[in-house]
This record gives sequence, structure tokens and C-alpha cells, in this order.
Amino acid sequence: MILQSLKELAEREGLTEDLDYEPKLVAWVISLDETGRYLGITSTAMPQGPKGKLLPKTVRIPRRAGRTSADLADFLIDKPEYVLGIAADPDLPVKRKAKLEPRRLLFLAGIEAAAQATGNVALQAVAAFLQSDADRILCAGDLTRQSFASNDLIAFEVAGSLVHEDPQVRLHFAGNRGSSGEPAVQCLVCGGVRPPVDKHPSVHVRQGSPSGIALVSFNSAAFESHGWERNANAPVCRNCAEGYTTGLRRLLSNRYPDPKRPGENCSPRSIGLTNDTVAVFWADSANDSLDLFAAIFESPDPASVQALLDSPWKGRDMPALSTRFYCLLISGAQGRATLRGVHSALLADVEANVREYFACIAPYSATPLPLYVLLRSLAVQRKPENLPPGLAGQVFLAILFGARYPRTLLSYAVQRCRAEQAVPRERAAVLNLFLYRNLKHKELNMGLNRESPEAGYRLGRLLAVLERMQTQANQGLNKTIVDRYYGAASTRPGTVFPSLIRLAPHHIAKLKNPAFLQRDLGEVLEGLDSFPAHLSLEDQGLFALGYYHQRQDYFKKRDGVPAVDASEGDQNHE
Ligand SMILES: [Zn+2]
Repeated sequence: MILQSLKELAEREGLTEDLDYEPKLVAWVISLDETGRYLGITSTAMPQGPKGKLLPKTVRIPRRAGRTSADLADFLIDKPEYVLGIAADPDLPVKRKAKLEPRRLLFLAGIEAAAQATGNVALQAVAAFLQSDADRILCAGDLTRQSFASNDLIAFEVAGSLVHEDPQVRLHFAGNRGSSGEPAVQCLVCGGVRPPVDKHPSVHVRQGSPSGIALVSFNSAAFESHGWERNANAPVCRNCAEGYTTGLRRLLSNRYPDPKRPGENCSPRSIGLTNDTVAVFWADSANDSLDLFAAIFESPDPASVQALLDSPWKGRDMPALSTRFYCLLISGAQGRATLRGVHSALLADVEANVREYFACIAPYSATPLPLYVLLRSLAVQRKPENLPPGLAGQVFLAILFGARYPRTLLSYAVQRCRAEQAVPRERAAVLNLFLYRNLKHKELNMGLNRESPEAGYRLGRLLAVLERMQTQANQGLNKTIVDRYYGAASTRPGTVFPSLIRLAPHHIAKLKNPAFLQRDLGEVLEGLDSFPAHLSLEDQGLFALGYYHQRQDYFKKRDGVPAVDASEGDQNHE
């Protein structure tokens, strides 16, 4: 079961040892002295990542209560409107402005109660600061001058120590997190009889709601059954709900702090497939081949791909034969998250499938092409939103799990070749993937195959030979036969090729050194009995690949080193 597997992942990675606290970006720290006198407010932003982008620090803070639109103050750390009663937007509508003061008082009341219950000096200092209008206004002025966002979190330090890290404060917070008050029932995940959570913690998903989305939720009567209300339909205890959500958050975030390596993040386990769909993956035991996966699909570096292709598991842990691999596709839209499926297989099999994928696309580019570049080449104007929804996910799952590629992949590739009268390398790579796996055309994997008897393939090669003759005979043509006839030649060869063949002798007569192309023409024609009236979709795919292979062969240098045709293809994959 998926929730269980996510919870186990979080436990295995040591992420659940302190479920009362969770990692969050904290943008600002207000410094106070022991009496609560205001000393200053500082930004935690530091340059991070390869581009040195300024980002706030990730800090483990008391777990958020899961606020919706209602007023609800979180403990000790919150947004400017709750901590200081100020808004980032100076032109806030009157209705929203009226909420600022009640929210500030709500936050203050939480601190006052905690300070009183614990007698903790640091909490008392924070309460004193919040009660002092003069200090608070001073602080708000400092923050406004530095400019802030409405979602920035603000923490406190007293006499140089972060208040939320004070052991007494931790204990107080943990003890105060009550249960939902629901009667105990059997938890779906652990099987224990415990009070179920009233509301599942939220996760952030692309295109989902900014406040996050709960993976399990029943917000409409249509999803409820047996007379149970809301989450009683799927009772999960708090420990399990926070455990599985922690696992999922870790998978979705590329900056989730690794408790085993202080200062470092957990290895990425997510791959963006489209604007709104992300794939996350994990295995039921730690394995470093997983570390390769995230990188090689999004921005494959040649060395990692080569390592995967050359020698399985060389220099890496060999996956135990029983290690299972899981993949989950998550899409966000209109504030909801959709799980597009949970898939599982043995990790060793997945790795073999991924190797096959890279072996299929390797001949088409000196540096391996990222998956999104391949998919984009199938879209009108190369805009991914012009592809059928779900295609990227289906293709990704087919790559990993060795399933047949969807036929849509072939039809889109063929359609784009026809519409653009061209076969760029990305589309040739996609065609090769499809023909290799779905139609078992393994003989075409290494580029031009002069032996292949496939009529579609030969006809595609023929078009490339005739185009070469034409362009060699007439330099500086505006339009070649490919620009005019690719579409017809690839679908109804019988209507085009007989007249093109009749033109060939005129071109040959103009060539300085015709023997080479004459040989190619003879070789291709020898395998063709006739020009078919119609080519099937599969044959049109073979046609495009044959055309591409033959054409690339003419761009090869004489010493046999392939020269990529710089005039075509998607050069700007950033
Ligand atoms: Zn449980």
C-alpha cells in the first residue's frame, strides 16, 4: 500500500524521528535580549544552488497546523501578518486589512499562554516584545524597509538562541499537540487502534494550491460512503499521516534537509514531466542507482549515462534482487492533486529498461537528450501544452517499466514530420524508441541499416537519396523535393515517387561525381518491388527514420566520424 511505503521511506531515511517539528523555509529572525527588548531583524537568505539564487534558510520548526482561509495562528513562528500585524501589500483591500489586528492578537495569545504555562524566559521575552507597541512598530519598519513577502516566516531568537529550539519550548509544543478527539479506530496504515487525524497534512504540488494539498481528503459528499463523515472514510492515525506526508514531501522537494548529513539535502527523487505533472520515485531499500535517475532524465550528463550504459552497477551498489522500485505520478490542477498512478517493479528490471532507453536515444546526439526535449519535438510549435495531457506520464512509465509506448507517441511524431516536412534528431530518437520496443526493430538502432528490407524504411531512404541528388546538382535551391513532397511521399508513395524517379537522370547528369549516389539509388531501389499506394502509421514511422538515417549518412565526414547536422534540431535545450 502506497501510504505505508511512503511512511517506511521516511522512517528509513531518518525523517520521522521528530514528527512534532518539520523543515520549513524561515526568511527572517527577530533578535531580542532576555527582557524582550528589540535588537533587530535579519534575513536568513543565502546564495544557494548552482546559480547562486538567494533563498531563505531551511529550519526545523514546530509543525504547522495546516491553515486554510480561517484565522489560525501557528506556534511561535508565523507570517508577518500574524507576528507583527502587517501586510506586504500596502494597497490591501479594507476587508483583508481588518483581519490583521485580530490575527496579530491571536498569535500573541498563543505565545502568552505558552509563556505562562512553562515560565520559560525566552517565551516571556517574545511575549514582552509582542506586547510592546513601540518595539513592534520599530521592527515592522525595519522589515518593510528590507521588503518582504506575505508568506515569509519569521522566527525569534533571544540572547542569541533560537527560541523554538529551546528544549523546554519543544516539550511544551509536543505535549500540546492533542489528538483529534475522535474515537479510536483501526488505522489503515499501521493497523493500530488510534484516534484518526481529522485532516491530513498537505503537500505542495506543481499547479496545486499555494497552501498545499492533502493527499487524502474527502471534501465532497460524493466521496464519502457508509455514512462516515470526511476522513473517517479512510482513518489514518496522526503518526502515520505525518509519516507518509513527510515521505512524500521529501520526494517532492529537491531541497529537503538530510538529517543524516547535516547541512546537506536528501538526494533528489523527483522528475518534472510537464508544467503540472511530476514523477517521484523511491525504492524499498537505499540504493545509489536511484541517485542517477533524477539527473539523467532532466539534464543527462554524458558521464552518468555512459556509466549506466557501459557496465551495470560498476562503482555503484548492485540492487539486491528483491529491491522494489516505486514510482508515483502526481498532477496538480485547480487546487487539487491527482495521483496518476502508483507503479512498482523490481529495481534491477527498471534499471535494465532505463539502459535500453538511453541506448535507443544515444545514436541521435553526442550528449544525451533530456526527455522533455524529446517530447517537445512532438508538439506544435514545440509547446508541451500542445501534447495530449498524460502523454508525458505514459511515456515515462513505459520507459521505466518496459511497457509498450502509447501509439499516440508514434502518431504525433509522424504527424509533426509531415507537417514540418522534416525529421529532426529528437523526433528520430522518439521514432527509434517506439520502433525498437513496440515493433522490435532492433536492427535500426545503430543508425543507417542498408540491409533492412522494410518498404517504409527503404522509401524514406529513397527520398533522402533523391534529395541529395537534387541539392548536389542545383546549389542554392529555395525548395527541395522534400519541402514539396515529404507529406505525400511518406503517406502515398505511389503518387509521388514514379515522377521523382523520372527526374533523377536529369540531376545525375549535372553531378561531377555521380557514381556514389547512383550506387545508393540502385541499392535502395533493388529492395523495392513497387511503390505502395498507401503507408500505414507504422510504415510512416519507418519512412521518417529511414529518411533521417540516410540523410545523416551524407553528413558524415569521410573519416567516418558522425557530424551532426547543425541546421536542424532543437538546439536550445537549456
Ligand atoms: Zn497508524
